[in-house]
Amino acid sequence: MKITLQNLTKTFPNRNKKVKKDVVAVHDFSFDIPDGELVGLLGPSGCGKSTTLNMICGLEKPTSGQIFFGEENVTALAPEHRGVGMVFQNYALYPHLTVKQNILFPLQNLKGKDKLSKEEMQKRADDAARLVQIDELMERKPSELSGGQQQRVAIARALVKMPRVLLLDEPLSNLDARLRLQTREEIRKIQRATHITTVFVTHDQEEAMSISDRIVVMKEGVVQQIGKPQEVYDSPVNLFVAKFLGTPPINVFDGRVKNETLYIGEEAVFPAKGIPDQEVYVGIRPEGFLLKEDGALSCNLGGIEVMGRDISIVSTHAHSLSPQIRAIVGTDKAVNPAAPLVRFDIEPDKLFLFHKTTEERIRLDGQV
Ligand code: ADP
Ligand code: MG
Repeated sequence: MKITLQNLTKTFPNRNKKVKKDVVAVHDFSFDIPDGELVGLLGPSGCGKSTTLNMICGLEKPTSGQIFFGEENVTALAPEHRGVGMVFQNYALYPHLTVKQNILFPLQNLKGKDKLSKEEMQKRADDAARLVQIDELMERKPSELSGGQQQRVAIARALVKMPRVLLLDEPLSNLDARLRLQTREEIRKIQRATHITTVFVTHDQEEAMSISDRIVVMKEGVVQQIGKPQEVYDSPVNLFVAKFLGTPPINVFDGRVKNETLYIGEEAVFPAKGIPDQEVYVGIRPEGFLLKEDGALSCNLGGIEVMGRDISIVSTHAHSLSPQIRAIVGTDKAVNPAAPLVRFDIEPDKLFLFHKTTEERIRLDGQV
């Protein structure tokens, strides 16, 4: 099922009664979510992810704009008639019911032409339980399950109605790190197996990048960029997106373009053909630093961290915006830990310039 979001806007009266101005939770959000894809809605807390999801499922009514499932305009449709499955951060299972009763619950409330026979309900519940691998646990109560198992029950309960659309709001946030990793893989597998169009909300960029066909990066209610995770990482449209994606994060410097050359401090670090003289922000991904004895950029060496797979070189620079710079290099590279300076060339694809006031990307010659 394709989902079309058309100029969706949602405003709330300000919670602070003294402030007259409304809160714009989501501003003019338009996007066609392709049939069968998993889309990750990503952004910091408060940027409007849950509000967007709640409008798709019908729990919130848009202030303006429209929502279509396929060709059907569902904007005014009640949540129970939209055919959506919803999973929240807190699993919200009924504590007094067994796993099986929890999964059956949404089916028992179906009325009229949707009503199912006992056998059909049983089969649907068994299928959903098998899909999320909890078929062994059907007679237990939620309190007898781990967090990961409870979240799987919640997912089974969302799937049992065979929804047209699956909506997940930070479903992994209450799980410990290992379970989070495992459960996100399972969600991906289930989504691939069922082909249900899925919107997955998270503030965790790594989570969104790892499971999404496409990510939507939001800031203060406004969509910043939509694209395949790798495309957005490789070609961020602005400083916010560049900083939000990637661990360790991108390193940002104050820089200056003069006579078609990029300077950080007094050092000419890169050609900047066709770019007018101006001050800029310079973003360099950690993997974009190339160790070189006569490299263009000199940083003050702080320390070396051996990570096993690679080496993290920690350094400082007077024009760096953050106190530490992190460069990731291969374990075959030798760095003298006693040297005061470490010098790098910069890999062209890993270097981004941003306008000093708008923070929009300025493309270097040849960059996409
Ligand atoms: P996210 O899920 O990305 O953390 P939300 O969609 O929950 O963000 O919230 C977006 C903005 O809208 C926030 O500023 C939040 O305080 C505000 N907001 C959300 N729900 C309400 C509400 N019912 N009343 C007033 N303000 C709200
Ligand atoms: Mg939220």
